[in-house]
Amino acid sequence: MKFTIKSKVKGGLARAGVIETPHGNIETPAFIPVGTKATIKSLTPEQVRDLVNADAVLANTYHLYLQPGTEIMKKAGGLHKFMNWSRPTFTDSGGFQAFSLGAAWGKGISKLANEESEAERVPQGGEELISDSSDSGSPNHASFASVDDDGVTFKSIIDGSTHRFTPEVSMDIQRDIGADIIFAFDECAAPNADYEYQKVAMNRTHEWAKRCLGRHHSNHLKDVSSNETESSSSSSFSLSSNQALFGIVQGGRHEDLRRESARVIGKMNVDGTEFDGFGIGGSFDKRDIGTAVKWVNEELPEDKPRHLLGIGEPLDLIMGIENGVDTFDCVAPTRIARNGAAYSSRGRLNLFNAEFVNDTGPLDAECACYTCKNYSRAYLSHLCRAKEMLSATLLSIHNLYFLVNMVKRLRQAIIDDNFEEVKNEMLTKLQIK
Ligand SMILES: [Zn+2]
Repeated sequence: MKFTIKSKVKGGLARAGVIETPHGNIETPAFIPVGTKATIKSLTPEQVRDLVNADAVLANTYHLYLQPGTEIMKKAGGLHKFMNWSRPTFTDSGGFQAFSLGAAWGKGISKLANEESEAERVPQGGEELISDSSDSGSPNHASFASVDDDGVTFKSIIDGSTHRFTPEVSMDIQRDIGADIIFAFDECAAPNADYEYQKVAMNRTHEWAKRCLGRHHSNHLKDVSSNETESSSSSSFSLSSNQALFGIVQGGRHEDLRRESARVIGKMNVDGTEFDGFGIGGSFDKRDIGTAVKWVNEELPEDKPRHLLGIGEPLDLIMGIENGVDTFDCVAPTRIARNGAAYSSRGRLNLFNAEFVNDTGPLDAECACYTCKNYSRAYLSHLCRAKEMLSATLLSIHNLYFLVNMVKRLRQAIIDDNFEEVKNEMLTKLQIK
């Protein structure tokens, strides 16, 4: 993987660049749609490519490990072939879900099956994150996942069976899945964890980061040597030699911890191997994006890409880009689509509202997506009310295009040296309906 910065905002952190991967380029900043279980819900890969024009997708390690399992994915030739997506891919480390989803088992699996909500990476903010931790009053997730210095033991949301992730296990699973960009295994402390616990989780994350780098390095050596011995075998599956590993910065909402974590992860080196980029993880409140993200990006090496994990609604994207984030992932655009909601240049719309029943205008007059070009608010409102599957598809196309395109416009503004102007225009419109 190679990262090149093309343009920077003077006196600020925002930048435009290109991440080059074995499966093509990602022009940054970029919004990365989430395909939790190796599918962007309700869309074909061709729709994600041609109608959304996403440069890459992100899948969740935790879910793919549990279902269908990494052996099947490995046999199918890895994530790209398995899901028929030829552009770049990311997988997360599985840590976030291992910590946050175990509680679902035994508390009514139907809730998950119906809403599909916690079964994906929930935006890492406020109440939505690990709501069950408040039940126990414990910041260390003891009620459903048990963490120790070596790893985390958790229960499957599918059948309640017990599993264990360690940094090495996460690296091996992500190697088998075969995404272009993978993440180090981290402990994501609950947002209500106190300073002392955030510090414990941060230090543990740093120790695990070293182990991830070590394992990534030895997997790489193994793959290089097996490639040499089996050079003629096209069936040999060994992608880790091409995989880029991103380290994760933790530290909650505390400036000293965030800066310390960014410095430690930023310069970590194990056997000559460093992280290829960085993820900003952990508990966030939307209000923190302008502060916590800024603290981290002021410390991280400038020449490597930064990914903001699990956050990416319109206002977050603007704030994140302004503060030096290069890539984002978030399940919100497809999740709200399934609930009949759409982003627009004038804020969020609820298609169930009576005002749309007779509205023959487009969803968003300023949007050039397939849905906005071909369908009316009245038709979309009808599909939602009639509970037709097509409503999820058409609204997902629009919501993903809206975010991808919004980020592309901000990227162009960085290159054209009018970022402030474009940003302020977007903010004004989003806040005035
Ligand atoms: Zn649209």
